[in-house]
Amino acid sequence: MTTTSLTRDAYRHVGRYVVDQSPIAVDLRDNTNLWGVPPAASRAIAAAASAASRYPRIYASALKDALAVYAGVTPDMIVTGCGSDDVLDAALRAIADPGECMAHLDPTFPTAVTFARMNGLVPVGVPLTPGWDADADALIATGARVIYLCSPNNPTGTVVSRESLERLATHAPGVVIVDEAYTEYAKTSAADLVGPGSRLLILRTLSKAFGLAGLRVGYAIGSPDLIAAVEKSRGPYKVNVVAEHAAIAALTTDAGWVRARVAETIANRRQLAGRLAALGLPALPSGANFLFVPTPDAVSLERSLWNSGIGVRLYTGLRGFGDAIRMTIGPWYLMAPLIQGLERATGRSASFDGQPA
Ligand code: PMP
Repeated sequence: MTTTSLTRDAYRHVGRYVVDQSPIAVDLRDNTNLWGVPPAASRAIAAAASAASRYPRIYASALKDALAVYAGVTPDMIVTGCGSDDVLDAALRAIADPGECMAHLDPTFPTAVTFARMNGLVPVGVPLTPGWDADADALIATGARVIYLCSPNNPTGTVVSRESLERLATHAPGVVIVDEAYTEYAKTSAADLVGPGSRLLILRTLSKAFGLAGLRVGYAIGSPDLIAAVEKSRGPYKVNVVAEHAAIAALTTDAGWVRARVAETIANRRQLAGRLAALGLPALPSGANFLFVPTPDAVSLERSLWNSGIGVRLYTGLRGFGDAIRMTIGPWYLMAPLIQGLERATGRSASFDGQPA
């Protein structure tokens, strides 16, 4: 399926939601799936309405089974939660005691740092290497009880190298959490490094490639012992009955839809990166469904786009990068106004012909 074969109708509900929430028509701030909810999941949401008077399964056993098949592991290696945020929060409580350190890439997903603080941990940021990799030795040298890695990393989009992941998995003094929220777009994962007794916890979500951010379904993959500890600290009934039905439908029936949208995202990512470079706004290499552009003009670009009805995420004073903007990759008809808005703001041409090549 090509970009243009998906009609605006497929996006209409998302557009209405966005318009209801803010004055912008094109919202590229949250890295969600801008093609919307996958079709089987959408049907499951409607069908699950009558189950809403009952409690869901206490530990989401049917969902765990579906996730285990998807991830190629056994169900006792999966814990689910109300979004991967919830799983991360529970994992930090299970792994570390107040006063202990959580080392993390700097910059990285700020919610992880917030959860560390909320659990009484001391966050220690470690800058990326000049090639945007995780500095495995510096992370290990912190002696942190828990190392939080994000790959592809939010907000930079860069992928942690296999070499660094292996080094951390082998030599880290405590548990290594690898947040793979965007793994489907990178086609790389550290999940195969998880084995019996390993201290690696892979965090995943159905909020991105699977298009279910509003239903809040996240999970982690780890050794059965580590998973049991996280589940104990997380508590029961975290995935509601509608979310469980939709997530199972998405995992078992929508795999082709998800693969097609991921392929389209990757094609549009390449196209958009080319246009941005032509505008003098080069993006970092991205393995995610977003692009990150460090630029001293970030503040004025973000304002100018906002005034054109286009939302991008603004960052100021990021370690090693300074100011930057980050934008979600979506259907090409949402990328076109972004490029036009940037052409207006910069006074340059992106040689944009309206279609991906
Ligand atoms: N991890 C990363 C790296 C993210 O960027 C996000 C969302 N922006 C999340 C986790 C949150 O995932 P969830 O919706 O499953 O809580």
